[in-house]
Amino acid sequence: AAKNKIAGVLFYTPALDSSSSLTLSLLSDLRYALQNGELRLFLQPKVATATGQVVAAEALIRWRHPQRGLVPPMEFIPFAEQTGFVRQLTIWMFETAAQQWRGLQPTEGHLRIAINLSTRDLMDPDFPQRLSSIMQESDVSPSAFCLEITESAIMDDPQRAEATLYKLSEQGFKLSIDDFGTGFSSLAYLKRLPVNELKIDKSFVMAMDKDESDAKIVKSTIDLAHNLGLSVVAEGVENKVLLDKLRELHCDEAQGYFIAKPMPFDEFVEWRARWNA
Ligand code: C2E
Ligand code: CA
Ligand code: CA
Ligand code: CA
Repeated sequence: AAKNKIAGVLFYTPALDSSSSLTLSLLSDLRYALQNGELRLFLQPKVATATGQVVAAEALIRWRHPQRGLVPPMEFIPFAEQTGFVRQLTIWMFETAAQQWRGLQPTEGHLRIAINLSTRDLMDPDFPQRLSSIMQESDVSPSAFCLEITESAIMDDPQRAEATLYKLSEQGFKLSIDDFGTGFSSLAYLKRLPVNELKIDKSFVMAMDKDESDAKIVKSTIDLAHNLGLSVVAEGVENKVLLDKLRELHCDEAQGYFIAKPMPFDEFVEWRARWNA
């Protein structure tokens, strides 16, 4: 099995043995992190390309480890997906995001928050009901939330994913297809699923100023989205040339380091005040 480095510890993927002592210790580390406030929710803005207005923010998880510092999600999310623990992380993200959203409202105006779902969430028949309870308890409308789902998470079991996505859509959540274009999957589901938005993968966006085929893929995806009545977001916008090009192509929203990096809630509030000034 391939060796991966996670938070300074070696463990084995993809054939994770759920009873191995390394797996158990990582799982208990993550449980400890969740219970002891070591997890952080960072926000990265999405702006309307036409007006520059901040319209949404993507919630991205971080693990602030007391010894190891800020651990990026790619070092523990794949592991959390394999063990199923990711479902608890998703619930924590919703609870935290709902609180933050309420904190943003009085001074900051309306803003959508995007949350990443894993295939485990889509396969869980109780997931829509759990989200519904969180929204009710925190008194936030599901329409304030956009759920980002990758093509591969859907393609694991399209029928079950479809059932979950229909329930979530009926509850009022907005749905976005993340990393669009990387999944090699059929376009048929775009017609079948209650999707609101396509998110063009950053691998296409980042190189579109240099690579002619990437530029064509981005343009075609924007046109496809609009022809289907969907909104379209580009991620990985790292410079002004890309942002200008996306505006020219009528891409609705842009997200990337050129606009802002993911940041903690307080910094986001300050950033937004400066951006709007
Ligand atoms: P993603 O959903 O595709 O998120 C976008 C990633 O691109 C983020 O990395 C973000 O920081 C990064 N990014 C944003 N703008 C730029 C840019 O201009 N250039 C470059 N090179 N990168 C940019 P991050 O935060 O490290 O997250 C990585 C992945 O981890 C996410 O990819 C998502 O798949 C997963 N992830 C993060 N948070 C969560 C979570 O709460 N739940 C789940 N299930 N997955 C999460
Ligand atoms: Ca995402
Ligand atoms: Ca993405
Ligand atoms: Ca991704």
